[in-house]
Amino acid sequence: MAVIIGDTCINCAACIDECPVEAIVDEDDNPTGEEYYYVYPDKCVECVDHFDSPACAEACPTEGCITWDMPFTAEHKDFFNGDNYIDEQAYGMDDADAIMPTREDISLEDRAARKNVVED
Ligand code: SF4
Ligand code: SF4
Repeated sequence: MAVIIGDTCINCAACIDECPVEAIVDEDDNPTGEEYYYVYPDKCVECVDHFDSPACAEACPTEGCITWDMPFTAEHKDFFNGDNYIDEQAYGMDDADAIMPTREDISLEDRAARKNVVED
């Protein structure tokens, strides 16, 4: 990951076409079964090499809906494989999967706290 969409999402669709890597799905395809949009952490590149900041969050009209999440790397595989993750889904990461770009200027503390991507 990445970024994560929270339950304040209003399913407005403003984000989905902004994603350069098609990491976002709508409520009908949310693998968690929740009725709102979802970001696949194994697809999201945090818009690195595409935009200066995450385009989904810039487009989102709902304050605080899209927040930072832990980097999707092998170092944090336990986070994504464990109960800590929103959908408790095991992604089966291994070293070969640990290639997702992340913004290194975003601290792990801010990610763990699910800090808003777009500041007030
Ligand atoms: S941060 Fe960028 S790559 Fe990730 S879901 Fe949002 S738009 Fe897509
Ligand atoms: S732009 Fe924000 S509120 Fe709209 S669908 Fe995407 S995450 Fe949900």
